Amino acid sequence: MSDDFAEIEDAVARLRQDGLDDVLRAHREAAKAPPAPPSIIPAPEFPYSIPHPLSGTARIRCPLDGCPWYHDENPDTEPVRLVLPLDYAAEDVTAALTARANARGDARRLRVEEAITAHFADDHPDR
Ligand SMILES: [Zn+2]
Repeated sequence: MSDDFAEIEDAVARLRQDGLDDVLRAHREAAKAPPAPPSIIPAPEFPYSIPHPLSGTARIRCPLDGCPWYHDENPDTEPVRLVLPLDYAAEDVTAALTARANARGDARRLRVEEAITAHFADDHPDR
């Protein structure tokens, strides 16, 4: 009986060690990645709190003092779809979640940058 427990404890310890190694490897890889490109996007505000139906909305204001313009981004309006192969494995789910998050982040950044660029062209053409 105690051999079974020892075997299980060994297996759990190996799994923990493997998981920790994965996390540490991911941190090392992330540290080697090039820095994110500079962005024109100011830090967002979150004007609606739970349980407001628009909670989760990120509001990006014009960075110029006194300008009332803002752009709202609500992640709930984005489609939530995960593309997996028919015979998917756990790694496929992780890769699909990462790919979807990256694609949504890229699309969001592009929308906000385009909104800010259009706002500056319309309302601050001298800046
Ligand atoms: Zn403005």
